[in-house]
Amino acid sequence: MIGTGSPDPGESVFTAVDMALKHVSERDLFVSLKSENTSPVGISADAFTRICEHIFTGEPAVKIGKLSQTAYTRFDRNADGILDENEFHDCFATWIQPTLNSRKCLLIVDVQNDFITGTLALKDSPAKQDAAEVVPVINRILADHRAAFDTVVYTQDWHPADHCSFVQNVKRLNVDVSSKVQPHDCKPFDIVVIRDDDNSLFEQALFPAHCVQNSFGAEFHPDLKVVPDAVFIRKGVDSNVDSFSAFKDNRAKSQTELDRVLSSMGVTDVYCCGLATDYCVGSSALDALQFGYRTVVISDACRGCADSGISHMQQRIKEKGGCLINSTDLPNLLNGSERSIILAEQGLSDGALERVRMQPPKAV
Ligand SMILES: [Zn+2]
Repeated sequence: MIGTGSPDPGESVFTAVDMALKHVSERDLFVSLKSENTSPVGISADAFTRICEHIFTGEPAVKIGKLSQTAYTRFDRNADGILDENEFHDCFATWIQPTLNSRKCLLIVDVQNDFITGTLALKDSPAKQDAAEVVPVINRILADHRAAFDTVVYTQDWHPADHCSFVQNVKRLNVDVSSKVQPHDCKPFDIVVIRDDDNSLFEQALFPAHCVQNSFGAEFHPDLKVVPDAVFIRKGVDSNVDSFSAFKDNRAKSQTELDRVLSSMGVTDVYCCGLATDYCVGSSALDALQFGYRTVVISDACRGCADSGISHMQQRIKEKGGCLINSTDLPNLLNGSERSIILAEQGLSDGALERVRMQPPKAV
């Protein structure tokens, strides 16, 4: 046990982890945990499991055991069955510390008039969902939990009038002969095959003109709460490439500022909400996972276009390790009283570990 007095064996790991939250040194924690077992050089798998039990209080023992084993194997690089001091340093800095002190971004995607009441209103799409319903949910999240997020980011689809996704602009596109839909007979929501300047082929979905720069349709819904000190990301600004994701365009030719901004803040976790689940929210969540952020989608703060597209996107996000929650799950998740095992598993991915090695979360 760290400090003086006789340790109670049942309490010692808890005390050590608890004190780690208060910035007890990693060295002290290592020495304390090492004393929990008989190894002279490091921490045994059993002692490590007890750390995990205290970090993930309330989670089922089977899940904690599986997570503990995965993490232990991950950090016991020489596979000698002991976490030595160097291995523990890596584990503490890249996994335990971010798990205890995650830095969070609320990413509010495209809550714009055109997707709610305008030319691309979700209520006119197959699922007939009312996109306006996300506004009070998001406003409540901001009212109740603004302080728990290190940053709030709002994105906007922000297209020039000659944008390639607008059906009326299809005649200027280099539609390939292989495309089943040709310019003379295409309509909104058709997909055409485009031949790019480099001769590569790509699919382009066609939509009614929407979110034209500086138009009313591109503005946020008038009732959406916009908090001070927020970050604003505009996407789809290039006439020749569409951009569903808040991170990069659909052809991965260019990135927005989002990753750079979040990296500079040491953000580890991205909570996604907004419009539409099966397009821009989902694509942003998948990219967040790919960029190594622990990623959560707040499902009741999202609406989508088509039931099949929504469920397919949710499945893809789950398969990539993402976490789907409701806004009612936020209080316990944000205040740390419930640490998500799914998020902790995400934190063990190559991308997440690399992100923390490059950009450690800043101290609270
Ligand atoms: Zn668009």
